[in-house]
Amino acid sequence: MQVFDTLQELGHEQVVLCSDPITGLRAIVAIHNTSLGPALGGTRMWSYASDADAITDALRLSRGMTYKAAVSGVNLGGGKAVIIGNPHKDKSEGLFRAYGRFVETLRGRYITAEDVGTSVRDMEWIRMETRFVTGVGGNGGSGDPSPVTALGVYSGMKAAAKKVYGSDSLSGKRVVVQGAGNVATYLVQSLAKEGAHVFVSDIYAEKAEALAASTGATVIAPEAVFTTPCDIFSPNALGAILNDETIPQLTCAIVAGGANNQLKEERKHAEALRDRAIMYAPDYVINAGGLMNVASEVDGYNRDKVMRQAESIYDITMNILNIAAERNILTIEASNAIAEDRIMKMRHVHGNYIGTPSIRGER
Ligand code: NAD
Repeated sequence: MQVFDTLQELGHEQVVLCSDPITGLRAIVAIHNTSLGPALGGTRMWSYASDADAITDALRLSRGMTYKAAVSGVNLGGGKAVIIGNPHKDKSEGLFRAYGRFVETLRGRYITAEDVGTSVRDMEWIRMETRFVTGVGGNGGSGDPSPVTALGVYSGMKAAAKKVYGSDSLSGKRVVVQGAGNVATYLVQSLAKEGAHVFVSDIYAEKAEALAASTGATVIAPEAVFTTPCDIFSPNALGAILNDETIPQLTCAIVAGGANNQLKEERKHAEALRDRAIMYAPDYVINAGGLMNVASEVDGYNRDKVMRQAESIYDITMNILNIAAERNILTIEASNAIAEDRIMKMRHVHGNYIGTPSIRGER
């Protein structure tokens, strides 16, 4: 791996390797861009096959956080960290406190949170060594982000419906929801309340059945999500599920879901959806409610404000869909362009000296 070439190509500012042999810590903190504010992003713990895989994941995920924050109007930059290890076997107080001290050395350039393989308890260990951590329990903590994420997905889905059908009502629309987990549960509740015909699936049939029983949705088999006739397909399970095999099978007019990195290859598969006249509501735009939720913790958590912010994903999505239509570009290109434009303009704004010298270099 040509490390510096890769960093410059992807636009990263800083990558920190953290090692502590006594506790077994091997961590990588990737700070992609801090033009808008401190880089916020979770810490993932995973048994990576190689160090290069771990670095690649940290680079890819941190860049995604920059775009997500920028497009959703949050004053945060993009960062992400990975800890190399098995989350079921290798966790300890020492490991997370050693990691917390490395986060502290960055003095607020990077703020961490939970991610795949880490939990509230791990964040509380990190919190013993640094205040630059969100997602801790107790007073002032933001708690479960899923209801906020689901509200954003629902709002973005309604904007897409307005664009495609001329009305944002989802009443009577057939919506296939992949996954019956945290986000899907709150999403399906809202859809059912509005009178949509919802089809749910999960690889754990009992999860889909429980969600269907409480909402009146219909259970379908996991492999049926791509072929069940519907108006809207909502992926809320895994990434890369929009690909060469699945896109030709889709029957929907809209894809709008909460899963991260839905397009296996961003440009190629966004084009494949457009060629099939399927409107794609960009994943990182409509699932930004979770980020809004933890971001609020940085300034003092306010649930009402966060819910209003998540609802604003309707307008953010509509703007993106309008720009894509006006300029005849992909929806993902429109959202990327809006994010890059905001970063460029705020970098310029912050370049203006405002006459308050600070030894801490605050903006
Ligand atoms: P979750 O683990 O609670 O739910 C995911 C569900 O998908 C699980 O029930 C799992 O069994 C199911 N699943 C896995 N593979 C499947 C398949 N092939 N077919 C059907 N179901 C399958 O996770 P979550 O918190 O609800 O998150 C869902 C997605 O949204 C993830 O991609 C996550 O990264 C993304 N996301 C979540 C949040 C949040 O606030 N929780 C925020 C932003 C993005």
